[in-house]
Amino acid sequence: MTKFVFVTGGVVSSLGKGIASASLAALLESRGLKVTLIKLDPYLNVDPGTMSPFQHGEVFVTNDGAETDLDLGHYERFIETRMKKANNFTTGQIYKSVLEKERRGDYLGKTVQVIPHVTNEIQDFVKRGAGVGTSEAVDVAIAEIGGTVGDIESLPFLEAVRQLSLRLGPNNSAFVHLTYVPYIAAAGELKTKPTQHTVQKLREIGIQPDALLCRADRVIPDDERDKISLFTNVPMWGVISMPDVDTIYKVPRVLHEQGLDGLICDKLRLHSPPANLKRWDKLVDEVLHPATTVRIAMVGKYVDLSDSYKSLNEALRHAGMKNHARVDISYIDSETLTPETVAQLAEFDAVLVPGGFGKRGVEGKIEAARFARESKVPYLGICLGMQVATIEFARHVAGLAQANSTEFEPDGPQPVIALITEWKDADGSIKTRDHNSDLGGTMRLGAQSSDVTPGSLAHSIYGDVVTERHRHRYEANVAYLDQLRAAGLVISALTQREHLTEIVELPQSVHPWYMGVQFHPEFNSTPWNGHPLFNAFIKAALDHQAQRPASQGDGASA
Ligand code: GLN
Repeated sequence: MTKFVFVTGGVVSSLGKGIASASLAALLESRGLKVTLIKLDPYLNVDPGTMSPFQHGEVFVTNDGAETDLDLGHYERFIETRMKKANNFTTGQIYKSVLEKERRGDYLGKTVQVIPHVTNEIQDFVKRGAGVGTSEAVDVAIAEIGGTVGDIESLPFLEAVRQLSLRLGPNNSAFVHLTYVPYIAAAGELKTKPTQHTVQKLREIGIQPDALLCRADRVIPDDERDKISLFTNVPMWGVISMPDVDTIYKVPRVLHEQGLDGLICDKLRLHSPPANLKRWDKLVDEVLHPATTVRIAMVGKYVDLSDSYKSLNEALRHAGMKNHARVDISYIDSETLTPETVAQLAEFDAVLVPGGFGKRGVEGKIEAARFARESKVPYLGICLGMQVATIEFARHVAGLAQANSTEFEPDGPQPVIALITEWKDADGSIKTRDHNSDLGGTMRLGAQSSDVTPGSLAHSIYGDVVTERHRHRYEANVAYLDQLRAAGLVISALTQREHLTEIVELPQSVHPWYMGVQFHPEFNSTPWNGHPLFNAFIKAALDHQAQRPASQGDGASA
């Protein structure tokens, strides 16, 4: 039977509920249990696919092509189970499903209400995420409820999991509440009042937490833990101190030392061997003791919010660990890059242009790709970064001076990047279309496989077949591929089904390491072995650093 742990949050957001949930999952997994994680998002958007990365951070893409909350990225980096569409749902999806049932007449004329119809729907979605009733059912499903207790919009979720806990019966579910214990400098004290209040709020709706994860900028002393325990009715051993740590990969160890996994297993009557954290300790040691530093310029648009590139940042760091290097990422706003300013990239060991949407800042990204190609600086272009590399090559090497993507210039004369429907136009002319009419609808999403050309740089990394996840609409236009090839661009991977361009690169006789990929390899990176593409990119950056004259500054001193 699948058991559940419900993780709620109090006081303020951004305390790291996703990391805490993932860490608990990792601890249970290390005890030999089959575990999964589910994220419940209280907003009305059906999925985060159409939400701005400035507001919402990265959109994480699963193998089965769901556009999900970035917490699912943490989940996949912390546990072995892979996430699917069912592992993340929103209020929007719940209502959509309830309203569809209502229209079909499934409710047999009853008045459709938040309780029980919406709350039942939520319970069904939670059970589906845990694989209940299928061969994929897990031992423990950890369901993280987005938002903070006290928000109007998360109420139906809390009510639903309270009911689900009742229905599951005693010892089949546990509640973990993440709270904040601020340190007030003027008083020189840690304050427990917000925690008292948030737990009161939770108990008001009938939920008594089994454990409190108390976030603070420091370790919470026993006196304060005792006070929290008394006021919240959580036994002292369930009041767990979660201080700031220098790497997120320390969190499983911090929780384990205070017995969180033991407490949960006791409550759920799960008999399992003790947690084994050897590989986590090794990982933390690798993060904290790098042999050198490598400096990467990330040229993008959403540079103000590092959450926009969460998986990418992590993938670079994982590859750093693999190469025993600390990865120092400088975010460069592509709107500031012009032919006059682009030489600033010379101080970096490699250039990366990440994915993105829309015209803003694109010319700066093209400048960055040009600089990297001409100066022989290692370059990795991801999705849009591959498209700008292709446009740059077309303009400055293949003689297609007006090359562009129809995303930025719908009626441009040389659409080297375009929607498939556009490059299929028989007479060769590009018809104007409404580029925004199908937001969220026509993306190439999820995992797809491609054949890799033997002898290419991509082949040395991936071997014969590459399978990675996608999230984009535009493709390299097949009408220009011969011309690009003739000018020296290597198209080193094509999708197996539709022969779409997956990887472009420069021959290693021309450039030491230059590659653009149409997919998002960052979604498949884990801290354990890094990801082969990022490992190779960071290695190329270190090689470039070693070969540069010392006057240009070596990253090791940074
Ligand atoms: N805007 C581009 C497209 O839709 C690239 C998308 C991306 O980088 N994820 O094809």
